[in-house]
Amino acid sequence: MAVESCVSARVGHHHTTTVLVLNAGSSSLKYNLWSGGAELARGTVDRPGSMSAALETAFAAIGSQAVDAVGHRVVHGGGRFDGPVLVDAAVEQAIDELGVIAPLHNPHSLEGIRAVRARMPKVPQVAVFDTSFHHTLPPEAYAYAVPERLGIRRYGFHGISHQYVSQRYAELAGRSPETLRVITCHLGNGCSVCAVEGGRSVDTSMGFTPMEGLVMGTRCGDIDPGAILHLLSTKQTQVDDLRRILNSESGLLAVSGVSNDMRDVLKAVGDGDLRAELGVALFCYRVKKYIGAYLAAMNGADAVVFTGGIGEHSPEVRLRICSGLDWLGVSLNPAANLAVEGEGRIGFGPVAVWVVPTREEMVIARETASLLAGKK
Ligand code: ADP
Repeated sequence: MAVESCVSARVGHHHTTTVLVLNAGSSSLKYNLWSGGAELARGTVDRPGSMSAALETAFAAIGSQAVDAVGHRVVHGGGRFDGPVLVDAAVEQAIDELGVIAPLHNPHSLEGIRAVRARMPKVPQVAVFDTSFHHTLPPEAYAYAVPERLGIRRYGFHGISHQYVSQRYAELAGRSPETLRVITCHLGNGCSVCAVEGGRSVDTSMGFTPMEGLVMGTRCGDIDPGAILHLLSTKQTQVDDLRRILNSESGLLAVSGVSNDMRDVLKAVGDGDLRAELGVALFCYRVKKYIGAYLAAMNGADAVVFTGGIGEHSPEVRLRICSGLDWLGVSLNPAANLAVEGEGRIGFGPVAVWVVPTREEMVIARETASLLAGKK
């Protein structure tokens, strides 16, 4: 079991709540320790073994610091949770039930919750959902045109990130979120775009599951449902194979033939690799289409905000996405686009363009601490 971590000196105050933030994935457990708005420690534990073993490794790295609460990032909260909740038996059951539609995500969160409870039964646990921010979607944005009895709707994901970067943009622009229309582009391993109007999510590219919308590292994004029926009905693939292919073997990896990591693909583009070029072109074209769609959906926008590993660090991808959109008011400044580090404005047209690094762990820590403060 590998561990990569760092622990910084404790700078918090005695009265502040120390929160352990856990992000349990299929192959790793990410942890961050926060106190009074400061990050004390962070790390990633690869977990070929059990969640409790991974948790022990995290605790060994954190050392003797007392943990007042644990905040979990939970991917799928369905339509049930419009904000963070204290984990109790009913919440656990709900997360468990939603595992049917989020099999790659929710079971790991649940494992994390149970491992924490086994180790420290008295410590309160809070679930912060990636779906909550999107509970404000209007029906025409969340409905699919299928019979209602199927129980299928858009939920949307990456909500913690879209909410944070849209609010942070408002802060940086010195505006109140209620007055703004912002298009947030979260481009990481998973990718999604969100239309935020008056501080509320009004549309987003991920859907019933985190597979819809943009081209991602290994996920296909938008695809004709007829193509899926074709593949299943001609028995070229079984359901489980197709699930794996569309989730783990598609996206940038499949199109480029190089990697799911944008850095590697861009390097191959530089070396003249034509499949890699198609991968990057398709990735950027899809984001550009969604920006156009959300400009229409909100009757315009005040800003486009880039975040996530790719959105924060790839000037080339940002440039390709925004190219040709000047007529809509989206104009990158090439020098600012290249020079930006951390937060900064890179487009000075009528629709401002910004880079705002996402801080999902900080938000989870903050929401966990404030939920507990409110409960006391
Ligand atoms: P996650 O969604 O797992 O949190 P990140 O937000 O860290 O992941 O994003 C990971 C992606 O960011 C990878 O595709 C990686 O290639 C990309 N990335 C990181 N740094 C750069 C960079 N300098 N240029 C291009 N892509 C980058």
